[in-house]
Amino acid sequence: MTPSSYDMILRGGDVLLPGGISSCDIAISGGRIAGILERNAEVSAGTVHDIRGQTVLPGIVDVHFHVRAPSYPERGTVGSETRAAAAGGVTTILEMPISKPCCNSVAVFDARRDHFEGEAQVNFGLYAAPGIASVDDLQAMARRGAVAFKVFTTAAPPRRDDEFAGLALPEEVDQYETLRRVAATGMLLVVHAESEPLMHHYMGAQQASGRTDAIAHEASRPDIVEAVAVAKILTMARKTGVRIHVAHVTSRAALDVIRAFKAIGTDVSAETCPHYLIFTNDDVARVGPDAKINPPIRSADDRAALWEGVADGTISIVTTDHAPFSRREKEAAKGNMLTAPPGSPGVEFLLPAMLDAASRGVLPLEKAIGLIAANGAKRFGLYPRKGEIAIGADADLAIVDLSAQTVVVPAALQTAARDCSGLYAGRRFAGAVTTTVVGGRVVYTGGQVIEGANAGRFVPGQRWEQS
Ligand SMILES: [Zn+2]
Repeated sequence: MTPSSYDMILRGGDVLLPGGISSCDIAISGGRIAGILERNAEVSAGTVHDIRGQTVLPGIVDVHFHVRAPSYPERGTVGSETRAAAAGGVTTILEMPISKPCCNSVAVFDARRDHFEGEAQVNFGLYAAPGIASVDDLQAMARRGAVAFKVFTTAAPPRRDDEFAGLALPEEVDQYETLRRVAATGMLLVVHAESEPLMHHYMGAQQASGRTDAIAHEASRPDIVEAVAVAKILTMARKTGVRIHVAHVTSRAALDVIRAFKAIGTDVSAETCPHYLIFTNDDVARVGPDAKINPPIRSADDRAALWEGVADGTISIVTTDHAPFSRREKEAAKGNMLTAPPGSPGVEFLLPAMLDAASRGVLPLEKAIGLIAANGAKRFGLYPRKGEIAIGADADLAIVDLSAQTVVVPAALQTAARDCSGLYAGRRFAGAVTTTVVGGRVVYTGGQVIEGANAGRFVPGQRWEQS
C-alpha cells in the first residue's frame, strides 16, 4: 500500500537512480525513501521542497575519515568535522580508530560511540584496531557494530604509542598473526601499507642529507615503500583468507601489485583520494606542510596511473582521508616537510571533485558517484541501506547543482582545520552541493548547516548484534 501522505517530498529534480538519471519526485517517510514518484504525482507531504534545476544523488559514504575525538578537540570535534561532512554532501563517515586511547577494545569502542552520538550531524560508523585483541575480543567488537578493522604496517609516530596501540604493526610476525585473527571474524581489514624497514632506510637518507623540502618528503617514502608493503600484506591475505581493503593507494607501483593480486582471485579492494587524483609533487612544493600527507602525493605519471586504476576498476572507492590539524601544529614544523604533521581536511571537496571530473568527461557521472557512494557501501556491508537511491533505503541524499561552481575559500569552510586547507585554497570545481539530507532531515542547505538537526546515527557493521 502506498501512503498518500509522506513526511517530505523533493519535487522537480533530476534523480540519479541505479539505472541512470531520471526525472522524478522523491518521497521520504520515517527517515527512509518511501516512494520514487512520477513527476507531480497527486500526493501530500509535511514539507515539499522544490528542487527544480538540481540533481539528487545518493548521500556520499566516506569510508576513510579522521576526527580522532574525543582527543585533540583543538583540531576539530565531532560537531565541527561532521558539519564539514554535511556541507560536502557526505552523509556517512567511517571514523578511523586513531584516538587517545586507540579504539582497540570494546570499552573504548563503546565510549567512542557514546561520544559521537548526539553530536554527529551525519551518520557515523567506527573502525576498531585489532593488533592487541584476542579473537574473542575482535568478535565482541564486531558484535558491538565495528564496521571494519584497520592496521598500519608502519610504527607509531614518535610519542604517539597510545594512539596507535593495536594499530601500528611494523613487524611481519605481528602483521601475519593479526591477519589470522581478523580472518577468523570474517571482517574486512583496511591496511595503511608502507614498509617500515624501507621507509626507515629512505627517511634516514633524507635526514642525513639535511633536506627538509617537499622533495625530501616524497623521497623519504618513495613508491617502493608502498608497493612492497602492499605485496606483503596481500601475500599474507591469501594465506589467511582475510578480506583486504588497501587504503589510499598513491602510486603506479602499488597499483600494479594490486592488479596482479586481483588477477589471481585475491579478495582485495582499493581506494585512492581526490588529492592524489588532482595534485602532483609540484603542488606539494608550492603549498608546503598543508600538502604533507602520508603516503605522499607523487608524480604526474602516478596520478595518471591512479585514473587508469579507477577506469579499469582496480580502484573502486574514492575517500577523503580527512585529517584535520591545527594551524599551530602545521606551523610548528616551520616548513620542515619531514617533521610536519601529515594530513589534510578534504571532506568538503570529495563530491565537488568527482562532479568536476564527470563534467570534464573523465568518467560518467554514475561511475563518479558510485566511487564515493555505492561501492564503499557494498564493500563495507552497508548496502542497500546506504549508497543508492531506492525505495526502503535510508533517506540520505546529496542534492547538487551541476551548473554551479564550488570555489574553495578556506575562511568559509566548516572544518575547524580551515586554516590548514592550503592544498585546495582557490580551487574551482564544476558542480556544487546545495542541500544535504540525512535520515530524512535537511542538515545543510543554502550554504548553512542546520544547527540542532541532530540527524547523525550510528551505522553498525554487518556483524552487529543489537543487545
Ligand atoms: Zn587515514
